[in-house]
Amino acid sequence: MAEALTTEHATPRQDAQMQLEIAGMTCASCVAHVEKALKKIPGVETAHVNLALEKAQVHFNADTVGTRDFVSAVSQAGYAVRTESRTFLMPGLEEAPVRDRAERIARSLEGVVRVQTNATKGCVTVEWIRGVGTPDAVMEAFQHGGLSLSLVDDGVEIDVRKLEAREARRRLGFSILFTLPLWAAMIRMFLGVGPAWFTNPWMEFGAASVVQWGPGFSFTRRAWLNVRHGNANMDVLVATGTLAAWTVSVYGVFAHAALYFDTSATVITLILIGKYLEAVAKGRTSAAIEELLALRPKTTRVVDRSGEVTEVAVQAVAVGQILEIRPGDHIPVDGQVQKGQALVDESMLTGEPDLQVKTASETVAAGTVHRGDRAFRMEATRVGRDTVLAQIVEAVEEAQAVKAPIQQFADRIANVFVPIVIGIAVITLLATGLALGDWRVALLRAVAVLVVACPCSLGLATPTAVMVGSGVGARVGVLFRNGEALERVARVTAIALDKTGTITEGHPELEQVVAADAVTEPHLIGLAAALEQTSNHPLARAILHAADAADIAPVEDVYTEEGQGMVGFLNGETVLLGNAKLLDAYGVTIPGELATKMDSQAEAGRTVVWLAQGDTVLGALVIADRIRTDAQLAIRALRARNIDVVMLTGDRRATAERVAKEVGITDVRAELSPQDKAAFIASSEAAGKCVAMVGDGINDAPALARASVGMAVASGSDVATQTAEVTLMRSEVGAVLQALTVGQKTIAKVRQNLFWALFYNVVMIPLAAFGVLSPMIAGAAMALSSVTVVTNSLLLKYALREV
Ligand code: ADP
Ligand code: MG
Repeated sequence: MAEALTTEHATPRQDAQMQLEIAGMTCASCVAHVEKALKKIPGVETAHVNLALEKAQVHFNADTVGTRDFVSAVSQAGYAVRTESRTFLMPGLEEAPVRDRAERIARSLEGVVRVQTNATKGCVTVEWIRGVGTPDAVMEAFQHGGLSLSLVDDGVEIDVRKLEAREARRRLGFSILFTLPLWAAMIRMFLGVGPAWFTNPWMEFGAASVVQWGPGFSFTRRAWLNVRHGNANMDVLVATGTLAAWTVSVYGVFAHAALYFDTSATVITLILIGKYLEAVAKGRTSAAIEELLALRPKTTRVVDRSGEVTEVAVQAVAVGQILEIRPGDHIPVDGQVQKGQALVDESMLTGEPDLQVKTASETVAAGTVHRGDRAFRMEATRVGRDTVLAQIVEAVEEAQAVKAPIQQFADRIANVFVPIVIGIAVITLLATGLALGDWRVALLRAVAVLVVACPCSLGLATPTAVMVGSGVGARVGVLFRNGEALERVARVTAIALDKTGTITEGHPELEQVVAADAVTEPHLIGLAAALEQTSNHPLARAILHAADAADIAPVEDVYTEEGQGMVGFLNGETVLLGNAKLLDAYGVTIPGELATKMDSQAEAGRTVVWLAQGDTVLGALVIADRIRTDAQLAIRALRARNIDVVMLTGDRRATAERVAKEVGITDVRAELSPQDKAAFIASSEAAGKCVAMVGDGINDAPALARASVGMAVASGSDVATQTAEVTLMRSEVGAVLQALTVGQKTIAKVRQNLFWALFYNVVMIPLAAFGVLSPMIAGAAMALSSVTVVTNSLLLKYALREV
């Protein structure tokens, strides 16, 4: 987040994106209004608002829009962008130039909406959009500008959700307190018990007015803001309904006519009960992210050059520092083992249950736990936002913020819904009034229609399920890029698996070197290694691993022939390293006897890589990679689900077929270039299949991009660089299965939610219009429907516990 807080005068950025936290949204139509308000700003390309998360994801052109525009547009629409502010102590503020400078620096930071200096107290308060900046980044900017300062607030982040739940509870308690007298009045009216003042109209008027204009005022205020902007949302329904009942009753007090104060107050109380339960439940759906964030320790032990160990806050750790990790500690930042040995439990990041031994120069990730019985030392290589853990959190948050297509369907319904409901209420009022001649009954029915029809549950149906689903996915090491990815995964009918690095472990080892006469083995390996130095292919690692640095030849102008091998020049001659196709392409023929000798190796599932200089073949390298232990089981499980499984590889046919046979794949496409792989996927999709391509992302990028669902096997730590729909943190074929299960179950849950939400409204509105439901029952039912949807989404967690 620190990155966003750079000055706006820096290099021109065009496509920028930002996440805003939005307060004040109550239902699906609010979502549409906020989106509309954001999209209306010139320079904003897209805006996605998520109701359950209360976040807006905005893509915009940073040259034309400033983040302050977002804040004003959202607040004009009647909502608010959440901000965060901190106060810093700054010596010298009594001097005007220092004050000006502080203000100028703070204002130039992106995301900052307010700067206030207080010369007498010597402090400056900076307010910025939550999530865009951090106190540290602000401090850094000041310090960079030559101003010294210190943070006054303790910097404890207040949990917004908890605050909201508390606020909702307070409001509800207040509302119940003043609704109780009205219930007493009701009891006296119907049962004749209790003192006479229970039914005193003035007492009723007082109690109901407190509820209407106290806790209930929030509905009226938001309804008014919406109506003023020509929008209609659920607040409009609640406000119109309760205000109608209240106004008619006030008239009743003066005209000695019937009173409906109990109706207006009870409806408000019931809806507040719903809001409170919703706030509590929403807090639970985001638990996955909180669990991830809780993996970060607060402090860590830094070892300085003299060997002295001091405990510091994790935020203070800088790249390059040496940290001491004791047994049982959570690792604070990403880094490399420097001294000693780490025995880490990475299950929280990857779902991988086995402990991993990490020795010198191997990487360890923030959030994982050291289970060894001795302390080890590590060097910090990535801190803060750059750690894998932070990237996972970001990926999950983004997955939840970007709207699934199915959600847009719900939004469209909600948009036309409110005006229609108001229409139905008016018709109910007029029709009943004229037909029965009883305007009292007519009014109650109209109020019931308004109250029962709130589209809250519709708005909550998708995001709550997506939130739970993507959270569960993250726990087992399956990261979905967004809601759409979940939706697509649910539709997959065929899986294409890359061989190297996906079905096999991707840690190949050089097993045998076959050198032609007059060529020594070290020379051959040294030449091969020279070509592989710039490659990040798994085969390259095997060759480099086996080579002696002293033998590496001075090969020049090395480049990659994607999916074939490497090409370079030595003494004016072309040097080739790769498959037969590569040699063929350069007009080099492999001697017959050598070729037959290597056939048996290929048939045993090993990869044969040829090395040639000029037009002579110097030899071959036989490289073997172990098949992942769970591959066979996972592939069988996929086929049991009626999913077509095909293996795509650039390796030669014999090798590929052997591996395929071992894991139980019958459909093998070998000797494919990366483009061939993409073309194969395109043709399967054209044939009506929905294909998920699983690859290690190194040379499978075209195929990953072409497939309906690209699943990238994260090679270690590059979550952020992945552009695939799904990132598999754990390199096991079984992760594919888990991704499918999570996708299918989540989308099934969304459908279920949408069905019930719609069903509920379709059934309840006529019941209310024909007087079967009293306004109070309608209020209770509407509260219940929201709570049901959220609870149903939470149940997904249990449905997926076995994943
Ligand atoms: P896969 O589809 O199984 O992941 P690739 O497309 O990466 O395989 O590579 C196909 C074949 O091309 C390999 O089996 C190998 O023979 C050759 N090849 C590709 N890259 C290299 C490289 N860097 N060094 C040597 N051979 C390579
Ligand atoms: Mg590969």
